[in-house]
Amino acid sequence: MVQDYIIRAMTTNKEIRALAVKSTTAVNDAQKSHQTTPVATAALGRALTGGLLVGSLVKSGMEIGLDIVGDGPLGRIMVNANYRGEVRGYVGNPNIELMTNQQGKLDVARAVGNGQLTIKKDLKVKEPYQGSVPLVSGEIGDDLTYYFTKSEQTPSAVGLGVLVDTDLSVKAAGGFLIQLLPDATEETITQLESNLSKINSVSALIESGLTPEEILEKLLDGFEFRVLEKADVKFKCKCNRDRIAALALSLGEEDLKDILEEQGKVEIRCHFCGETYKFNEDDIAEILRRAQKES
Ligand SMILES: [Zn+2]
Repeated sequence: MVQDYIIRAMTTNKEIRALAVKSTTAVNDAQKSHQTTPVATAALGRALTGGLLVGSLVKSGMEIGLDIVGDGPLGRIMVNANYRGEVRGYVGNPNIELMTNQQGKLDVARAVGNGQLTIKKDLKVKEPYQGSVPLVSGEIGDDLTYYFTKSEQTPSAVGLGVLVDTDLSVKAAGGFLIQLLPDATEETITQLESNLSKINSVSALIESGLTPEEILEKLLDGFEFRVLEKADVKFKCKCNRDRIAALALSLGEEDLKDILEEQGKVEIRCHFCGETYKFNEDDIAEILRRAQKES
């Protein structure tokens, strides 16, 4: 099996930027971490894959956040990704019931509902950049397409797909992002539209064993392109005991002592990866002592 990776390419006429990603293992790891049911897996998987595509457009050291707040039963979807192909994320309600649409497919749009998509880019030096658009469909791929076109004024096409197996694991996941650069001619646009119309399911392409390069060959049929960057993709959290201890501290000394008294320990679960961190009385005393020294 082809492992997960993402590629960023440019046509040699410099009119099109194109990215493709295979994210099957990453989305499968997310499914296992969060124990998501199929509709939640599809929604989270698409958001993670979209996050990887957005994340690979930023410069090194930068990180992006993709935040989808809808009024559907799924709740909020949060994703963080970076240019190194590392992604993490969660959904508000990971175990919603099966929802299918009239075509018999997982109804991500209805699970997400109406709301807003926000992209944050942490540039580490200046104020974080942030752009928001209303959700146009809730299918996430369409919403990202709208985001790029509206918020970043770059005509784009985004395709995202997740195929969930009968045992709840992820059979295939992946996506692509095509962007027209300012010099794109009418001829290029027509050819690209024709190519895009021939692709109806990116997850089916991944399932059939196509690599990201082979997906781009289909999308960029009639053009020559060069792969500029390639990165392995993984579902990876950046939580650790120190970060979670800081989070514990934010509860305040009094609340921490109350929890200790009631439960004998403080347990904090990382939203992004599901990992649970346990702190006993001594740990909490140490955390409080350290905080006092620093203040
Ligand atoms: Zn975590």
